[in-house]
Amino acid sequence: MLKSDVDLAPYTYIRIGGRAEAFWEVRSRTDLESALEWRRQRGVAEWFVLGGGANLLVNDERSYALVIKLDRAFGAIREEPDRIVVEAGVYLSRLVRDGVAAGWGGIEQLAGIPGTIGGAVVMNAGIPAFETFDLVLEVRALDAEGREVCFRTEELRPGYRNGNIPPDVVVSEVILARRAGDRAAMATAARRLKDERREKQPLQHPSFGSTFRNPDPPAAHGVPEGHGSPAGQATPAGRERPRVGEQGAAGAWAAGTLIERAGLKGARRGDAQLSEKHANFVVNLGRASARDVLELMILARREVGRRFGVWLEPEVRMVGFRPADLEPLLERAA
Ligand SMILES: Cc1cc2nc3c(=O)[nH]c(=O)nc-3n(C[C@H](O)[C@H](O)[C@H](O)COP(=O)(O)OP(=O)(O)OC[C@H]3O[C@@H](n4cnc5c(N)ncnc54)[C@H](O)[C@@H]3O)c2cc1C
Repeated sequence: MLKSDVDLAPYTYIRIGGRAEAFWEVRSRTDLESALEWRRQRGVAEWFVLGGGANLLVNDERSYALVIKLDRAFGAIREEPDRIVVEAGVYLSRLVRDGVAAGWGGIEQLAGIPGTIGGAVVMNAGIPAFETFDLVLEVRALDAEGREVCFRTEELRPGYRNGNIPPDVVVSEVILARRAGDRAAMATAARRLKDERREKQPLQHPSFGSTFRNPDPPAAHGVPEGHGSPAGQATPAGRERPRVGEQGAAGAWAAGTLIERAGLKGARRGDAQLSEKHANFVVNLGRASARDVLELMILARREVGRRFGVWLEPEVRMVGFRPADLEPLLERAA
């Protein structure tokens, strides 16, 4: 269904967005073909896809010629003997619910991650012990011209929070391996994962989840595992290093820990805040703008870089910003 002049904020988890001049709500494969044909006929070069909007910061200072939104109605799940075929608009919450009930082993590990399966393969969404591509056999998509393209997992070579799906394709279907799982154990694991999220994440406020990717382990930054200096202690280079302590290297070097150690937990720009509960989450306390969020991200990155020599990379996908706006998120000196 084609709509015009649509406010995008309600379609993103952080509730920030500009306006879509054309907004195609895709409820079926046929709708998706129509949307791409519409794009092709008008020669619209700049467009983007919205899944659940759980990992997006959309610049609200501008409008967008075309947004293709995958609706939850584009959401069939088909069970085959050794695989599960999932349409791209299926939300992970439903996939996990159905999967736990049916005993599709592994699917419970995605419990509590917001968004659609389409977004999950683009992002290779997951938790430290599990990622979407642990289950994916194949991804089917349409390219910008509406032609079907197919990618096997081995070809994509997905990495940390990146499924390596080529740009300008729209994922239409994801084929998952069907493994036998113990339903009771899966249900318990899913519940535990959701409880942990409620405990650690600021779920009462709109956000887009982790703002920055967790940086490489300490060895990559020249700090042998388990031998970091205590927080606040100056290194010979004049920088402080975070303590690699009881939590283990990953914990001490997690983006949220670094931001917190840089003293920025709770920092605000307008109504955007580095959450007091989890410093790697930017939360919208009311009327935050994309610029507020961008400024906070730049502040966090500069301060962590200056103090610890670690240059954080955004995990959130940022849409509609000028290269000059994003420059400070790429530079490697404060
Ligand atoms: C509270 C909270 C907790 C979170 N926790 C986690 C977590 O534990 N682990 C984790 O990995 N992530 C987490 N996230 C981030 C988010 O849930 C994931 O990145 C999720 O996979 C995004 O899916 P989405 O459908 O919302 O994608 P969107 O945010 O809509 O889009 C993300 C990217 O994928 C593209 N895209 C989406 N659908 C398609 C499609 N069908 N075809 C082509 N491109 C597409 C978009 O253009 C964009 O570039 C969290 C987010 C929130 C708000």
